[in-house]
Amino acid sequence: MKNKRLVMIPGPTPVTRPIQDQMGREVAAFGDPLFVNDYKELISDLKTMLKTEGEVFVVAGTGTMGMEMAVANTLKANDNLLIVSHGYFGDRFIEICQRKSLDVDVLASEWGKIVPVEEIEMKLKEKTYRALIVSHVDTSTGVRAPVEEIGKMVNQFEETLFIVDGVCATAGEAEYVDDMNIDVLFTGTQKAFGVPPGLAILWAGPKAMERRKSLGTIPEYYIDFDKWLPVMHDPSKYFATPAVNLVWALKESVSIIKKEGIENRYARHEKVARAMQKALESLGFTVLADPAYRATTLSNLVYPEGVDDAKFRSLLYDDGMIVAGGLGAYAGKMFRLGHMGNVDLHDLVAVMATIERALYKLGVKVELGKSVGVFMEEMLK
Ligand SMILES: *Cc1c(COP(=O)(O)O)cnc(C)c1O
Repeated sequence: MKNKRLVMIPGPTPVTRPIQDQMGREVAAFGDPLFVNDYKELISDLKTMLKTEGEVFVVAGTGTMGMEMAVANTLKANDNLLIVSHGYFGDRFIEICQRKSLDVDVLASEWGKIVPVEEIEMKLKEKTYRALIVSHVDTSTGVRAPVEEIGKMVNQFEETLFIVDGVCATAGEAEYVDDMNIDVLFTGTQKAFGVPPGLAILWAGPKAMERRKSLGTIPEYYIDFDKWLPVMHDPSKYFATPAVNLVWALKESVSIIKKEGIENRYARHEKVARAMQKALESLGFTVLADPAYRATTLSNLVYPEGVDDAKFRSLLYDDGMIVAGGLGAYAGKMFRLGHMGNVDLHDLVAVMATIERALYKLGVKVELGKSVGVFMEEMLK
């Protein structure tokens, strides 16, 4: 019997056939008017999608490049910066910013919890910060930051830009750039857009663009807003070769999102995530993130007593499914399951069943079908 391979890590996420087909197309010249037009439409749609009047940049690279691009274009050496870290990716920002000689202060939460908004506010009152950085969803903990609330609060600090890492959130978690007072937001294609890895997408509002202007020439070249802006306004212009097939693939993804409706997509993520989380809890797993701050794009599941991480994940792998391991202190104690983007309902039922089979083979007492039942019951509500 042949098993379909299920890629259930938090990115790359499953890529549906219409998006794959765009990757398989014969490449076009980047100056081909047909491609230029596709690129132009994509840029416009990406602004509409997140309801912003600001700028959008689509540049070949990964989410980490988006992190670097956000910082390089808005801050210079010795600027005060506040990083709120809810895990591994928040911590990655600390390293990026320290290398750029920024004056970094950090508010870090215990893994699974958030830094309360009042605490961020108090810190911002202590001195003038040129930016505040928060990951919307930290993939290492499955914690979702209250971005809307933080945006409201940060609005009172005129000097402070609000930078949001949306790599594990954008196109899955509710985000409206202008309404949420976000100055810079970025993601990578391989997470909730359901496109293969390779493009970073970055939204920048007027305050961020003003800041870029005030910096003059920056040390970075490839990720400089000023180099890309003319191309984003007129994609027939050349700065560096666009990733033609990825641009098409992303355009297909955006077209799928438009058909689904962004609000419906957010609601679907919410429903699926809560159903998955409840189903997995019924098998004895503990969701790491506090229920009030749980992401909808992935779940971080702490093993019940006696389940060996390596054995469990290798059983899943042999059965055709791959999930991610825990990071940091949770390595060996937890696994991470992505359920964002264009996931398929049939696949999700299979995911629950595959997890049950692995537990069963490990000798854990499971009532076969339990989590499948819980999942379906929740989805039918
Ligand atoms: C995946 C991820 C990143 C890094 O993205 P890459 O594409 O792997 O470079 C950054 N931040 C968050 C929150 C992520 O989930």
